[in-house]
Amino acid sequence: MDGISCDRCGVSLLVESDVRYVVNLEAYAAYDPLEITSGELERDFDAEYRALIDRIEVTSADELEEQVYVRRSYDLCPACHGTFLKDPIQKASLDQQ
Ligand SMILES: [Zn+2]
Repeated sequence: MDGISCDRCGVSLLVESDVRYVVNLEAYAAYDPLEITSGELERDFDAEYRALIDRIEVTSADELEEQVYVRRSYDLCPACHGTFLKDPIQKASLDQQ
């Protein structure tokens, strides 16, 4: 995001477009409230904890951070802004698979 070119198509925002749009994206892990059931009490927490530590040891700090919280900003030209608003979560591409 430099305010000079569209982050999606690369068009120059200062020359080829009178307006630019800023899209702020924030994604974070949402956890449901803790509910303790009999199944929860029977879980092997030591094994789960060891498995978690094993996964952390082979994952980069950036990857771990992205699994919890991501914030990004993008400059978009009017055309890309319109495309983004029509399908911000790219649901159409999932429907085509
Ligand atoms: Zn664009």
